Amino acid sequence: MSHTPEPWEVWTSNSHIRISSCGRDGDVCCATIASDGMAVLSISIADAERIVACINACAGLPQDALDGGWTAAGISQYAKKLEQQRDELLAALVNLLNVSDEPPDSNCSCHISPPCNDCVDNGGMREVIQGARSAIAKAKQS
Ligand SMILES: [Zn+2]
Repeated sequence: MSHTPEPWEVWTSNSHIRISSCGRDGDVCCATIASDGMAVLSISIADAERIVACINACAGLPQDALDGGWTAAGISQYAKKLEQQRDELLAALVNLLNVSDEPPDSNCSCHISPPCNDCVDNGGMREVIQGARSAIAKAKQS
């Protein structure tokens, strides 16, 4: 059995708190009084499991985020936008490296007179290119 479809809302009716879906009063969860006078919480196992799963999935999420309209669908949409930006930046970085001149092979003589002219003239560009290649490799792994 699957859980009650969203959206859910908290309703109060005659001072009783209920969880309702699609305008159905208390169909998700409501308190009742049994014939013996015992208070009973009426909820399906699927809805109870859904509540627990959602609470656990939102662990660490500030209440302000939920109050502000945070949703899993919104975060998913935001993540897709970030992935698209990453892909565009990755392609631009690959293109930039393809048209950039490679610095000459290292001819370091820092052991004689640090810093040597080779390191001063080309060390920065070698570092930048190595960093870009490393970032591209990491991005392609994800
Ligand atoms: Zn050097």
